[in-house]
Amino acid sequence: MTRRMWNHGWKAWASKTAVIVTAVLCITGAAGCAEDTGETAEREFFAMDTYMNFTAYGPEAEGALEKAKNEINRLENLWSVTREESDIYQANRSGGKPVTVHDETAELLSFALDMAEETGGALDPTLYPVLEAWGFTTGEYRVPAAEELTALLARTGYEKVSLESSTLTLPEGMELDLGAVGKGYAGELAAELLREAGVSSALLDLGGNIQAVGTRPDGTKWRIGLRNPYGEGTIGTLEIADCAVITSGNYERYFEGDDGQVYGHILNPDTGYPADSGLASVTVVTPEGKRGDALSTALFVMGEEGAKTYWQEHPDFDMILITEDGRILITEGIAENFSLAASFSGMEIQTIELK
Ligand code: AMP
Ligand code: MG
Repeated sequence: MTRRMWNHGWKAWASKTAVIVTAVLCITGAAGCAEDTGETAEREFFAMDTYMNFTAYGPEAEGALEKAKNEINRLENLWSVTREESDIYQANRSGGKPVTVHDETAELLSFALDMAEETGGALDPTLYPVLEAWGFTTGEYRVPAAEELTALLARTGYEKVSLESSTLTLPEGMELDLGAVGKGYAGELAAELLREAGVSSALLDLGGNIQAVGTRPDGTKWRIGLRNPYGEGTIGTLEIADCAVITSGNYERYFEGDDGQVYGHILNPDTGYPADSGLASVTVVTPEGKRGDALSTALFVMGEEGAKTYWQEHPDFDMILITEDGRILITEGIAENFSLAASFSGMEIQTIELK
């Protein structure tokens, strides 16, 4: 397979012209809303390998955010691949023997296995041995030999995982990683907690994955800056309410090999190599965070044509595809809600319509 670097022409152009913003996502308008209620709560913390930043408004905001943060830390303890007490850590060292997992682990794993099936294996929660070989789990990056990848692929395959209620059996040598879906689930759960606590306005940023509760306190939509996948800053703004905006892209984590090629963290489960499907990023917009998270990763692997076909067959979400050759494709449901940043005004935008 080809393993080319992303389009350098675009990258160079974009980084010269883009407004430099340090945050992964620039959320405009949120700060100005504080005066509307007088009660704003914020939490910034590190969890699930990323910086999270939560803002909520109203009298219940403070207590609800504390609870949401605690819940996310609890989920991380269940699903971490490195914490000894986690269900996933235990399963990955079970030597092929059945293990009992918590109900929530079973729920998320069952969901991930269903999505793996539905996406034809583009999402595969059993890629951990291959991710380890590339060094994406430790930061000690290397390019594995083709034979090594072939051997490791024999230790992957979502269809070999058995989950009966809360009894999980993972064949010896296989390892799970819920990294492609966990943050989406966590965002969805946190939003539910906030709503139950009576919060009607909150914006949760889970390392670039956004989950919005309601609208801004003044009733207008949230304005979410979409990360420029070619360089620094934001490429455009999306106006949304009460939903998740989840982006996958290799720019999030990658390394440059001795051969000068760039290798990204989203792998093609068929080859064991980083997905090289012509997409620079995929953003999924849906009320369900965990579905958005699963889909953004899977659609990134599928590429433009695969993603379009998938959406035509499952049009219960919206998406924005940004291609390596400088195009933006948006499904019709949100086309009106997206506007390009001034420095990208020359980019071509195509609308994807239902057939
Ligand atoms: P996301 O940021 O949600 O797209 O998830 C990417 C993370 O999921 C990577 O950092 C890996 O830990 C893992 N991963 C990479 N490729 C895949 C894949 N094809 N299916 C499932 N998980 C993957
Ligand atoms: Mg994902």
